[in-house]
Amino acid sequence: MKSSEGGRKHAERSLARHNAQNEAAGLYIVATPIGNARDITLRALDVLNACDLIAAEDTRVTAKLLAIHGISKPLTPYNDHNAARERSRLISRLTEGARIALLSDAGTPLISDPGYKLVREALAQGVAVHAIPGPSAALTGLTLAGLPTDRFYFAGFLPAKQGDRRRALEAARSVNSTLIFFESPRRTAETLADMRDILGERNATVARELTKIHEDVRRGNLGILASEFAARSPPKGEITIVVAPPLAPEIDFAKADLLLQKAMIHMPLSAAAELIATALDLPKRATYERALSLKATNDAR
Ligand code: SAM
Repeated sequence: MKSSEGGRKHAERSLARHNAQNEAAGLYIVATPIGNARDITLRALDVLNACDLIAAEDTRVTAKLLAIHGISKPLTPYNDHNAARERSRLISRLTEGARIALLSDAGTPLISDPGYKLVREALAQGVAVHAIPGPSAALTGLTLAGLPTDRFYFAGFLPAKQGDRRRALEAARSVNSTLIFFESPRRTAETLADMRDILGERNATVARELTKIHEDVRRGNLGILASEFAARSPPKGEITIVVAPPLAPEIDFAKADLLLQKAMIHMPLSAAAELIATALDLPKRATYERALSLKATNDAR
């Protein structure tokens, strides 16, 4: 009984501390759903309820989200068209101690969305910046792709013009990570074809309408996906493409075999493998196994 009372008090103190954190002055970067309206955090709702003003990419879109959650707050537009002008107005309110929440139409602001310059300017003026994390199509697509997640490279939107797009893909080809792209539905088929030509037959995932009623996730290699999307009319909705890292290059052991044979005459097998792996920049384990198999062949002769 005593310990459950203690636990309750601890939880209340912790909640009070967190609530105070949600009400401090400063700029709040608030992530919102990418489709499913229920994908909003409790903290995001707390901050929206507590803030003085919401700067929204599109005030109509944000007004709908606020209505779903019964929140009524002053809204002001902050988007690519008015950012240069609005930024200084928002910064002066922030330096006076206002609590301003920045929202994009969907997902995490700043991720292929406006906000970076506002954050940079707020920090330069000594304004506190708080992140309220939540959904982002990039990470949602990555987690569903079934592709390696230990390293990934978010490449945002590719250029719309084919020449520029192919050059951007050439630059991404050697990146040794899973690649994440945003793409418009109109260009999905041609982008997949360019990816197949430039990135090769890697596995990939096309994630459409994530978290929405018509969510559709297609997995396959780039050749198959490119043909599939070329054969149908352009998909509807929002698209994120995730592409596997480059395949490990085939190791050409011809030179290594020759040098291993010579080195093994003068030194023990493991030392020869180590020497040749280092000299030719080959993986040590594979070179050692290669030396073992060469020795077995030599011994059998
Ligand atoms: N800031 C947002 C985020 O963190 O998710 C991304 C904004 S960016 C302007 C919009 C692009 O994100 C869309 O064109 C699409 O490529 C991708 N996207 C957004 N919502 C998506 C969804 N529900 N399913 C798949 N892709 C989505």
